[in-house]
Amino acid sequence: MLAYTYIQQGKFELTEKPKPVLQDGRDAIVRVTLGSICTSDLHIKHGSVPRAKVGITVGHEMVGVVEQVGADARKVKPGDRVTVNVETFCGECFFCRHGYVNNCTDPNGGWALGCRIDGGQAEYVRVPYADQGLDRIPDTVSDEQALLVGDVLATGFWAARISEITPDDTVLIIGAGPTGICTLLCTMLHRPRRIIVCERSEERIGFIHRHYPEVLVTTPDACRDFVAEHSDHGGADVVMEVAGSDDSFALAWQCARPNAVVTIVALYDRPQVLPLPDMYGKNLTFKTGGVDGCDCAEILRLIEAGRIDTTPLITHRYPLAEIAEAYRIFENKLDGVIKVAVTAR
Ligand SMILES: [Zn+2]
Ligand SMILES: [Zn+2]
Repeated sequence: MLAYTYIQQGKFELTEKPKPVLQDGRDAIVRVTLGSICTSDLHIKHGSVPRAKVGITVGHEMVGVVEQVGADARKVKPGDRVTVNVETFCGECFFCRHGYVNNCTDPNGGWALGCRIDGGQAEYVRVPYADQGLDRIPDTVSDEQALLVGDVLATGFWAARISEITPDDTVLIIGAGPTGICTLLCTMLHRPRRIIVCERSEERIGFIHRHYPEVLVTTPDACRDFVAEHSDHGGADVVMEVAGSDDSFALAWQCARPNAVVTIVALYDRPQVLPLPDMYGKNLTFKTGGVDGCDCAEILRLIEAGRIDTTPLITHRYPLAEIAEAYRIFENKLDGVIKVAVTAR
């Protein structure tokens, strides 16, 4: 089968590999019908994910059809359309039982697919702990509607869930990339008084204006003043930092009102500085990533009910054979791209 493979730092290539086989009774083999490319894939390519293994098939955002299940997999059966979770988790350890599945203590717990074990930018993928890692897609939900459930949408859902949003709040979301927009969609479910999105790219600002006209938009330079003007207590009640730069990290706590919750969703390339003397007296609560992706069934129900729609984010489509071109467009943010869908053929 065709598989997009991590060859060496800076180089992914489409290679021919054997179709994966079951290795454990709890595994499933999924025929990938639609996949996507995530910024984390680029982090692997650029060598900033040290635990990524050379030779693995990359890709951790996908939906597909179950082809085969091990003897101990109970939840899905061959023929089921499923979303695949970015995280591998056992469902039984202390962290899993508390919903902290990102910290599952299994050797493959956390983000393994497309990083430490073969992922889904391929024709087939082996999913460990299929009962945890797969969720059935409702019949009325399309592959494109479900494509982002297991990763970026799960991240947005988790960020909004842990940020203690109330109906009186002004929520600031920094960054309107794919994860930022997913965070916005999930924040809307909590119906805060107002939502402000801070974004630099004119293309993405245009996207927010077009699709979510009720959302206020500002730029990084104007953000502090704008938030002070458009909030009830001199700053945002909740800040979600999804941009991942040094500037955006500082902006996140600076735009927060005293006693706010600041949720760090972004993954940074570098350590960040918490200038505690400057923030003394602000009494902030920081919550840091990454996603506990265990809400996929609920997210699928919300999609089925028409309450979340990420299909406008899918701006480009390529067959797997042309995935290198899909990467070029996504990596260089060309042609207004937000998310790319990679089809089986
Ligand atoms: Zn990802
Ligand atoms: Zn576990």
